[in-house]
Amino acid sequence: MLHINDLHAEIDGKPILKGLTLSVNAGEIHAIMGPNGAGKSTLAYVLGGRLGYEVTGGSVTLNGADLLDMDPHERAAAGMFLGFQYPVEIPGVSNVQFLREALNAQRGARGETPLSGGEFLKLAREKAALLRMDMEMLKRNVNVGFSGGEKKRAEMVQMGILDPSFAVLDETDSGLDIDALRVVGDGINTIMRAPHKAVLLITHYQRLLDYVRPDFVHVLAAGRIVTSGGPELAQRLESEGYEAVA
Ligand code: ADP
Ligand code: MG
Ligand code: MG
Repeated sequence: MLHINDLHAEIDGKPILKGLTLSVNAGEIHAIMGPNGAGKSTLAYVLGGRLGYEVTGGSVTLNGADLLDMDPHERAAAGMFLGFQYPVEIPGVSNVQFLREALNAQRGARGETPLSGGEFLKLAREKAALLRMDMEMLKRNVNVGFSGGEKKRAEMVQMGILDPSFAVLDETDSGLDIDALRVVGDGINTIMRAPHKAVLLITHYQRLLDYVRPDFVHVLAAGRIVTSGGPELAQRLESEGYEAVA
């Protein structure tokens, strides 16, 4: 589904990704772990097509199409979802408005008809219930005044509504208490555990992986994947540290 081959990328002329190679097949969840500054977020931004992250070599394909050739909105329409460590607040725009716009923009790009207000609310209610999120919260402005846990829950609802085939989640577990962690873990499992979907789960700690069991674990250090293994690798990293393993 996603093939990253010998990817090189830099920020402000500073090389960050230095020959990263990784393949993710449909039906798989891959965890990427690694020390601070390794380039994990840079990888997520490069996959999302964020401005300022310059690809200087290598290739990325999503379902056979050249991902690096697409605008961020084309990547979203192609089924990619990005979840971030620090979700943005959008004063003056409700979650419901924001999500309906986002969904209908993607549907439009795929040649599908937009959902009416009623159809959208039905879908939003269903997804909010799945994540035990109060619909009242979805009527509030995007992330404004939300706690860390509420922002993550909202992000999971967003993921449920957009229903991507490929999700990149960058430290979506940071700052969560145990209950919120479980909600996020359940959300990822419920929304993304499917034969035609895949996830790249970037995390600093092992604990989210107690809820979302990855098929593969990779260690990213100094801009490359240096070690790969199964779920047991995450346990080893937790007990022995990155330096011993990478
Ligand atoms: P991680 O997510 O693994 O902690 P990042 O991808 O955030 O790592 O950062 C990788 C490296 O890129 C770090 O050395 C960081 O200082 C550097 N970096 C990240 N963002 C910028 C930026 N906007 N300008 C310059 N350097 C940056
Ligand atoms: Mg970091
Ligand atoms: Mg990071």
